[in-house]
Amino acid sequence: MAKLHSVRLNEDKCVGCTNCIKKCPTEAIRVRNGKARIAEERCIDCGECIKVCPHHAKSAEMDTLNALKAFRYTIALAAPSLYAQFGAPATRPMVLAALLNIGFDDVYEVAIGAEVVTKGTCDYLPQARSSSQLPLISSACPAVVRVIQEKYPGLIDNLVPFDSPMEVTAELARRDALARTNLKSQEIGIFFISPCPAKRTAVTNPIGNRPTQVDGVLSIAEIYPQILAKLEKINPDQVEACEQRILADATGVGWGASGGEAMGLQTEKYLVVDGIHNVIDILEEIENERLRDIEFIEANSCMGGCIGGPLTVANRFSAKSRMNRYIQEALVFEADHQDLVYKPDREVIRPWFDMPQANNALTLDPDIFKALEKYEQMEKITHQLPGLDCGACGAPDCAALAEDIVRGLAVESDCIFKLKERIRSVAAQMSELEFEMNRHSKPAEGEKEHGHT
Ligand code: SF4
Ligand code: SF4
Repeated sequence: MAKLHSVRLNEDKCVGCTNCIKKCPTEAIRVRNGKARIAEERCIDCGECIKVCPHHAKSAEMDTLNALKAFRYTIALAAPSLYAQFGAPATRPMVLAALLNIGFDDVYEVAIGAEVVTKGTCDYLPQARSSSQLPLISSACPAVVRVIQEKYPGLIDNLVPFDSPMEVTAELARRDALARTNLKSQEIGIFFISPCPAKRTAVTNPIGNRPTQVDGVLSIAEIYPQILAKLEKINPDQVEACEQRILADATGVGWGASGGEAMGLQTEKYLVVDGIHNVIDILEEIENERLRDIEFIEANSCMGGCIGGPLTVANRFSAKSRMNRYIQEALVFEADHQDLVYKPDREVIRPWFDMPQANNALTLDPDIFKALEKYEQMEKITHQLPGLDCGACGAPDCAALAEDIVRGLAVESDCIFKLKERIRSVAAQMSELEFEMNRHSKPAEGEKEHGHT
């Protein structure tokens, strides 16, 4: 069965503190009965809730190295952000050799697929210009694509219509392995080493239902200690063999950090944005046609780009500094070994046949008139709520509680202020009633006197 999401809640660890509800960019989390709940249809697997939960109640469900056993030949796909986890003296060939030592039969740099996508985007830009379909928005970050599907479906046609570097690299790796090994496709297992849960969801629940060439996704955090252990006693011959492989150029390696993708394009009219809440602000600007002078938007859900992913190990600032070193080394390598540098001109990247579809999770009703009615109702309830956006009701703000009420998922008294108001009014009514009852049960003055005689 297809797995819709990779981000999971461990109920036993959740204390219902509500820290996560305000950070979720799609308001997918509610705390009810003291536990967080994720609305699957809204979650974009950005991993923000993993980063903010102080009780580690949110995690990503990823594949493990055990999954390799199901295949006769396994290939690791090394993301550029993986390199940035390792400081000097580690080099790219050393990290690739370490992956082979862990048990993979072969290894590919995802930076190679990034080069192919860069070339495809450069070639596509004139077409986008002539059809006024600007700005183009990078489709490399699956969390960004999903937020567009959910909150800004009008911008779907602005997405760069190519598979991600992970998919492109997987396709190249499988094609080469089939030619080299005489094995059947199902005997070859391709594993991406990922900085984020969104990439795994892109495999288990592909955007636009496109077939994937990736068989499993492991987290950088899980594999990091093993790579580190292998790097400490790496065999120089293996490193030398990896140095003789075709390696990606600096353009591809640069994709690991925010700004790297845009740097490779042939336009200066680009904008780079990172952090999912900042991305949403920029998408809002595009929708309001305030970015007409921009041709390309590089948008990454994580701060700093993939090096800031929730499944990485290194602090994103030190990772950024390391990334710069790897880029410099790639430039030197390019200058010295033109014959060993990957040339993306060999590949023709095909645009998507179908663009991704809108996700209607935020629609109040499929019937437009009913939806408008519900929207008005929601606005009315929002104005009746205290407007403190305190989160005590388990929804991120008063508007979200109003939406839940309209959807039949909550009631007004979930708001503690409304509940207090209600209790106060019931108490006042009761004391009035009590007063009236006492008044009626007391004998009249004349009756009293009569009784004493
Ligand atoms: S941050 Fe969210 S998931 Fe973590 S303990 Fe608090 S309510 Fe539960
Ligand atoms: S992964 Fe992102 S979208 Fe999904 S529940 Fe967590 S914060 Fe919300």
